[in-house]
Amino acid sequence: MELKNYIAGEFKESLSGEWLDVEEPATGRKYAKVPLSNAEDVEMAVESARSARGQWGDLSFEERSDWLTRIADGLELRREEIASLESRDTGKPITLARNVDAERSISNFRFFAEMLKNHRGEEFEMSDAMNYVSSKPVGVGALITPWNLPLYLLSWKVAPAIGMGNTVICKPSELTPMTANLLMEVIDEIGLPAGVVNLVHGDGGGAGSRLVGHPGVDLVSFTGGTATGAEVARTAAPQFKKISLELGGKNASIVFGDCDLDATVKGVTRSAFLNQGQVCLCGSRVLVERSIYEDFKHEFVQSVEDLRIGDPASEDTELGAIISRGHLEKVEGYVALSIKEGGVCLTGGPGSSVSMEDRLKGGNWMRPVVVEGLPVDSRCSTEEIFGPMVTIHPFDGEEMAIEIANNTRYGLAGSVWTTDLEKGRRVAENMRTGMVWVNTWLHRDLRTPFGGVKDSGVGREGGKWSLGFFSEPLNVCIKDNSD
Ligand code: NAD
Repeated sequence: MELKNYIAGEFKESLSGEWLDVEEPATGRKYAKVPLSNAEDVEMAVESARSARGQWGDLSFEERSDWLTRIADGLELRREEIASLESRDTGKPITLARNVDAERSISNFRFFAEMLKNHRGEEFEMSDAMNYVSSKPVGVGALITPWNLPLYLLSWKVAPAIGMGNTVICKPSELTPMTANLLMEVIDEIGLPAGVVNLVHGDGGGAGSRLVGHPGVDLVSFTGGTATGAEVARTAAPQFKKISLELGGKNASIVFGDCDLDATVKGVTRSAFLNQGQVCLCGSRVLVERSIYEDFKHEFVQSVEDLRIGDPASEDTELGAIISRGHLEKVEGYVALSIKEGGVCLTGGPGSSVSMEDRLKGGNWMRPVVVEGLPVDSRCSTEEIFGPMVTIHPFDGEEMAIEIANNTRYGLAGSVWTTDLEKGRRVAENMRTGMVWVNTWLHRDLRTPFGGVKDSGVGREGGKWSLGFFSEPLNVCIKDNSD
């Protein structure tokens, strides 16, 4: 299958004539090609988005809300296709792709459609004048997304961006382009005005960085790795573009002695290994109060070993394949490093490969790994690994738990597990992250702010924060001088 760019309402081949192969993580086989777009493709996409700005920005919030609903309806009709494309493209289990990726991609459009219907300006009265604040579009947005939650994250940006009257250019990850293409097909079928949503495929250093640096792009919403985020900021900041950066994480799951053990083991296992540990919010450091360390460890390792690894297309698979050969090698490198740093693998580890059969033989497979005994400041305990490997550490008391949790350059998320809710809240308040869950994980209310602090990013998306980022407030102060 050969994908095309989507520019000015048309599917177009790249002017570069060059392609990138798309590989299926579960088999290692090439099964599609995406255009390796060049500067001219980017130029055309920016031109298209700029031409569509005026008319689209002039529509009312209600009219744009209706368009978002039409997109959601179009995606709804292809729900199962989204799930199977996403599962094949990323290697994630089909049940996860169905219940999380397909579900959230559709609800992102519905959620923002509803928010827009109720969107009103603000008023601030003075003794002698009145202020009216309205939201104006920023202009043209570059929306750049990673491979772990392809349509989920793209729709999280497209919906509020066009909802607030911007026109956009999407640049999905070159590793997982299929559902971005499906979204363009839906947008085309429903007849969204040409140029409102454009898409250029390609690599980060090419299409991605050209978009970020293009003077015709007014805002950049980027989700991806921290090093790439720094590069995006370096390029965009001197041009004073609006930037939102959703970056990496090294999140702690803090387990107290008074937790509900069964529910916590289940929750911490899910948080550590969902999507093979390839979710920015995954709890990759498990901190356990010493009083229950041995009991918890035993139950946790058992629960990790019970996870069913298998064909992503199979309904009972719980752990699928790793996104790419290169990423698998990176994660395996960290497993080897953990031994050098003094760790002991409680399950999985160097040499404990997964043997898959038939068509899955050439895929990127790895057993989940739990490592104990590492210093809390070791590289494996503080760097983002982004795979099925977690470290486990004992702690004594709240203060020590907070200190370890904060001992990393990242600050995205975390979770606290305790039956003492007051303690849960106290610990959460002291974690230097953007989001903390108590006795749950990845429990999302789309109205809440999403994003991190420190090297996990800049800004927030979600609910009114997305509407704020994707718009410019205009304050008009009116004084009536007539008697
Ligand atoms: P990545 O940074 O390699 O790539 C992300 C996107 O940026 C891709 O589309 C890529 O082509 C593009 N890109 C690469 N170089 C670029 C450049 N110089 N200029 C512009 N675009 C460029 O990240 P990845 O490997 O695809 O994703 C994994 C990372 O994403 C992890 O670090 C993970 O924590 C992070 N992530 C963060 C969140 C969040 O919300 N904070 C969510 C999901 C993933």
